[in-house]
Amino acid sequence: MTSHDITSHDIPPPEAGGVLTVDLAALRANYEEIARRVTPAACAAVVKGDGYGIGLVPAASALWQAGARTFFVALLSEARELRNLLPEAEIFVLNGLFPGTEAAYRDKRLCPVLGSVSEIERWSAFCEDTGTALPAAVHVDTGMNRLGLSATEAVNLAEGRDEIGFTLALLMSHLACADEPDHPLTARQLEDFRAIAALFPDVRASLANSAGALGDRALHFDLVRPGIAVYGGRPRKDVAPLRPVVRLELRIAQVRHVHEGETVGYGAAHTALRPSRVAILSAGYADGIPRLAGASDLRPGAEAVVAGHRCPLIGRISMDLLALDITEVPEDAVSPGDFATLLGDGLGLEDLARHSATIDYEILTSLGRRYHRRWV
Ligand SMILES: *Cc1c(COP(=O)(O)O)cnc(C)c1O
Repeated sequence: MTSHDITSHDIPPPEAGGVLTVDLAALRANYEEIARRVTPAACAAVVKGDGYGIGLVPAASALWQAGARTFFVALLSEARELRNLLPEAEIFVLNGLFPGTEAAYRDKRLCPVLGSVSEIERWSAFCEDTGTALPAAVHVDTGMNRLGLSATEAVNLAEGRDEIGFTLALLMSHLACADEPDHPLTARQLEDFRAIAALFPDVRASLANSAGALGDRALHFDLVRPGIAVYGGRPRKDVAPLRPVVRLELRIAQVRHVHEGETVGYGAAHTALRPSRVAILSAGYADGIPRLAGASDLRPGAEAVVAGHRCPLIGRISMDLLALDITEVPEDAVSPGDFATLLGDGLGLEDLARHSATIDYEILTSLGRRYHRRWV
């Protein structure tokens, strides 16, 4: 075990099929590290996707303790939950102002991130009717083509600034390729965002996600918006992940012997090439373990650690079960009821993601609801 591994001494309930341990001290340390690196820019925290899968409430409480005062979520429902937890936080809702939600934003003191002219007009009209210039962010698109005003619309907004009925609290854009160092789109987005931000000199500006926050200072502006790096994921290819935040252990339901030539699991996709010992673990794709992490005779899958040995997954992943080849693990070192480590003990999010043709974001946000969860 490395000093970065998460350990906990409390014993999980005997019926738990899997144990997900969330290291909130590591989460706080990661946030503090990023905040330190981007000073004098301020550091927000992105807690969408149920706090990247670790739980919105525990994540946001820990991040508030670490000094975060500005938060980003995707949806109004997430913002409401966050407001109940953190009465003083500044909360932005990234997915915009859905028609009919205006009053809820006002009542809960939430800031919509306005990403189209129609949203701007609707929020402006609502503020005028209410008689209060409520705050909002404006998102300007600089190449992502997902949400946000076009550059021309942003210029028009700057020119018609007097007609805006709300308080422009933040001007933001979002990087599409900051995870790839030197991708030419990042430089183009930076240049375009600089030009637009210059039209709103009195408004805070924000461009950087984790990859940008851990990249060139020029990307930082007034406020950075890291997500994945805070949760221990790898934000860019040239930067090592910060401290791991999640550890995932799966219960060994059975240990069985498989004869040479027999197959394991659905589709008979794995054939034992030698007499094998196989551990059947009590978790599967219903718990967010990607089915693509499974293996076949043609393709290796992910790995898990049993009693200090790295063991390959074999065969297809079922809904609630998966198989590990533990032939190399000494027989007396493992019994039913023990755990195999899928994340931790040297196996990172990236290892599982790579074998599953996905990214650490998807691994985290898919983490199952059936695990016994503990926060340390
Ligand atoms: C999700 C998101 C972030 C955080 O991105 P990471 O890559 O997880 O750091 C920042 N800004 C916006 C607009 C986002 O949607």
